[in-house]
Amino acid sequence: MKKMNNIYADHSATTPLLSEALEAMMPYLQEDYGNPSSLHGRGVMARRAVEEARARVAECIGAYADEIYFTSGGTESDNWALFGTVMDMRKKDCHLVVSSIEHHAVLNSCKALKGEGVEVTCIPVTVDGRVEVSELMKALRQETRLVSIMFANNEIGTIQKIGELASVAHMNGTLFHTDAVQAVGHVKVDVKELGVDMLSASAHKFNGPKGVGFLYVKRGIVISPFHCGGHQEGGMRAGTENVAGIVGMAAALDFHTRNLVVNERRLSSLAELLIGMIAEECQNAVFNGDRKQCLPGHISVSFPGCDGEALLHMLDLKGICVSTGAACNSRTTEISYVLKAIGLDERTAKGTLRISLGYENSEEEIRRIASTLAGVVKKV
Ligand code: PLP
Repeated sequence: MKKMNNIYADHSATTPLLSEALEAMMPYLQEDYGNPSSLHGRGVMARRAVEEARARVAECIGAYADEIYFTSGGTESDNWALFGTVMDMRKKDCHLVVSSIEHHAVLNSCKALKGEGVEVTCIPVTVDGRVEVSELMKALRQETRLVSIMFANNEIGTIQKIGELASVAHMNGTLFHTDAVQAVGHVKVDVKELGVDMLSASAHKFNGPKGVGFLYVKRGIVISPFHCGGHQEGGMRAGTENVAGIVGMAAALDFHTRNLVVNERRLSSLAELLIGMIAEECQNAVFNGDRKQCLPGHISVSFPGCDGEALLHMLDLKGICVSTGAACNSRTTEISYVLKAIGLDERTAKGTLRISLGYENSEEEIRRIASTLAGVVKKV
């Protein structure tokens, strides 16, 4: 899977498929290709695989199986949580609260909902990228139907105090959704401990296949279906299930849940090693986000005055894959709204790289990233 001499350090964009996941998927791509809605033996086998995967996914996040709805990934889960919550409301009486650093899957859903008459309040974050409880309290109103705050940010890696934020929303009688796309499989996520009503996840961020994810919806919470079609997923999400994808996702999540503590510790210490080496070699480096409450292996570093895109391409030529920001933003030349929201000036924001490590990165690779980066920063 790994090309010779190629170091992949862009795991927040996507991750390689685990061999355990691929192995689990293979039968459902070839021999056991039945449609889970079919009544014959092949269909029953596919249905069984989907339900086993549902139970496995649920166990990994402390949910009941009937609270897991399979989707096409993080974007769909986020869209569904927001649209599904307000679809049955009189829009002009509906108010949502989100943070200013949410993923576009949430922010652009809000933009679309605003066009329909829904009111949206976007709350600021601190310089570390944290959402403060006091800001949420200020934003809540009697008619606030939903608060959506991401578990961990995809650009700067900051992890929010989701449990506290959810309980503040609940005190107001408001539902709480979290986009946990960057967190699930990497840090402990227990929906009952957190007390969230909805949670989004995506398999390709934790070494599962692309194009599959899930939305957790707590028992008793009513949201509207988002797709029109058949009666799959208990009538909540139409469309023939991506059986192989679902099975692969469950295998990947199961693997990460069993190895969570070891991986978390290992990735955090690799990140600390890399940060130390970068800081020593490049004295103007600025590290973004909350380093104490951060995704393991995630580094957002700015080299003020450098062109981040030039750095990225030079690293790429030397066989090192990183990103300038979020993968979905990296094709635009605009400054990242997340970096703006944490108060970075243009010169610093433009010189920002995101280095996100994964379970297959070694210490030797970290040393190579550090020395190569120091070389290209000096050149740029
Ligand atoms: N939310 C966050 C925080 C993300 O990082 C991403 C992807 O980068 C998404 C949502 C969208 O997920 P997907 O690629 O599965 O649609």
